[in-house]
Amino acid sequence: MLGSQELADLVQQMVDTMRAAPGVGLAAPQIGIPLRVIVLEDRPEYIAADAAAADKQRLPFEPLVIVNPSLRPLSDEGARFFEGCLSVPGYQALVERYTAVECSGVTPEGQPLTLAAHGWQARILQHEVDHLQGILYVDRMISRSFAARGAGTRLPADVPRPGPCSCCHPIDQVAAAKA
Ligand SMILES: [Zn+2]
Repeated sequence: MLGSQELADLVQQMVDTMRAAPGVGLAAPQIGIPLRVIVLEDRPEYIAADAAAADKQRLPFEPLVIVNPSLRPLSDEGARFFEGCLSVPGYQALVERYTAVECSGVTPEGQPLTLAAHGWQARILQHEVDHLQGILYVDRMISRSFAARGAGTRLPADVPRPGPCSCCHPIDQVAAAKA
């Protein structure tokens, strides 16, 4: 399988699917393929459109393909940010993730690969590796932060946008949801 045209074709299909969504990561089980393969990519234009990109430590990187990835946190430090998923369209929630992880696996050609990831790249890796174990972000989310993406966008411009309510959410979460 490693080094095969079949795997190369699957990887291309996954990258195409991720970009068409558009998204920053995809795991093979999300398109019905029961293999431990993930792809991830963050692009300058996505980052430019994200007002919170600096807080998220979001930096562009070329498509990364990892077969049989495993993760190890590089410290106990975590961060909470809103996260969505192509398999749960239309929603988002706050998820706490490690801010730095080491990822080990192999390339589609079978070469061993190890990388240290920080910030948003570390979050994407944790999200995608979770998919390989049947875990979705909704299994890890802070459930009271779960909200529709773009809620209230069809309302007239002069009425307040509904979002996470300030009665049960700390004010900073409400501000983050509106960002
Ligand atoms: Zn996902």
